[in-house]
Amino acid sequence: MTAEDREAPIGVAVIGGGPAGLSAGLQLVRANRRVAILDSNRPRHSATLRSHGFLTRDGAPPLELRRLGREEFESYPTSIYAQAVTREVAPLDRGEALAAGFPDGIGFRVRGTGIRGSTDAEFVARRVLIAAGLTEELPPFPMIRAYYGTALHSCVECDGFEKTDKPLALIGETSDVFARALLISRFSSDLVVFTNAAATVTPPQERQLAAVGIRVERRPIDDIVGERAEMTGVRLVDGEVIPRVGGFVRPRWHAPVEFLGDLGIDRDDWGLVVTDDRGETSIRGVYAVGDIVPPGPQQLIIAAGSGARVAAKLNMDMIRGALGVGLIDA
Ligand SMILES: Cc1cc2nc3c(=O)[nH]c(=O)nc-3n(C[C@H](O)[C@H](O)[C@H](O)COP(=O)(O)OP(=O)(O)OC[C@H]3O[C@@H](n4cnc5c(N)ncnc54)[C@H](O)[C@@H]3O)c2cc1C
Repeated sequence: MTAEDREAPIGVAVIGGGPAGLSAGLQLVRANRRVAILDSNRPRHSATLRSHGFLTRDGAPPLELRRLGREEFESYPTSIYAQAVTREVAPLDRGEALAAGFPDGIGFRVRGTGIRGSTDAEFVARRVLIAAGLTEELPPFPMIRAYYGTALHSCVECDGFEKTDKPLALIGETSDVFARALLISRFSSDLVVFTNAAATVTPPQERQLAAVGIRVERRPIDDIVGERAEMTGVRLVDGEVIPRVGGFVRPRWHAPVEFLGDLGIDRDDWGLVVTDDRGETSIRGVYAVGDIVPPGPQQLIIAAGSGARVAAKLNMDMIRGALGVGLIDA
């Protein structure tokens, strides 16, 4: 990134270079916008070797998808890609925004710390698009990370097919475990739901699961066990091992928006960033897209598709803002 790049105002600063951010970025540079993507290179799916369900790329390594997306984005002259962790997004006051050439008096200063030897990034941008994905917290079993992304997965739609007819575990302590169990039963009828002693499956739900052959195990878990790279079971605190070769775990997800500091942003009960149907958050001029918005984690192709959709709305918002018209049907 040159000093000139750093100083010239940006149309949209995109925080996050996953499928949502890259797809939005591509649409926006193709709309002749100057776009800076800041990416900290910590995608959630880095635990997995193959991604599934992206039309024309089924089975491709997820990092390969990102590399191709970045190459396509960077082939446009108005693109800037900064390897940086965004630390701060602060609104400009109206005078500063107008002085930066932003006709509707809305703008932001975005600061990031360079990673992997890259310089720090600082931009003045007319709009901000948060596409930072989610961070995830797995249950605290010592060996769970060793099997996550290979034997244990979080996305049923992404990895269910490969688990067809296998003895599976579903580990989860949240209220959506029942619905997930039903979804997984499409792939295997040999399923044990482990609640790790949390009261998340109600007795009526347990009866419904039993009716389709799914057992609920409420005893607390000690660890995941295996031989070399292969998962072989779930060990309970009382020492019993329930043989399982893989399955699904429901992590807890967090929306990483610390860079907003004291700027209040509306969130839902799960902590995800709430937007209107155009993708704008409760902060005027700040949009959000991808896994970070409700309903939460989905799939690569959905993140990419919603990135393209929100980019179109954002572009129209900027066109209308320049003309001084409102946001009707943008
Ligand atoms: C183990 C696993 C396997 C999966 N397998 C599949 C699959 O097979 N098929 C499928 O369709 N989906 C799969 N998914 C889901 C898929 O990865 C997500 O739905 C998708 O990546 C979401 O895209 P996103 O752009 O919203 O977020 P992400 O892909 O998570 O990208 C967000 C980016 O923002 C960056 N970022 C975060 N904070 C900052 C910051 N402050 N500054 C700068 N950058 C920041 C992160 O480093 C990251 O690069 C899987 C997920 C996991 C966890």
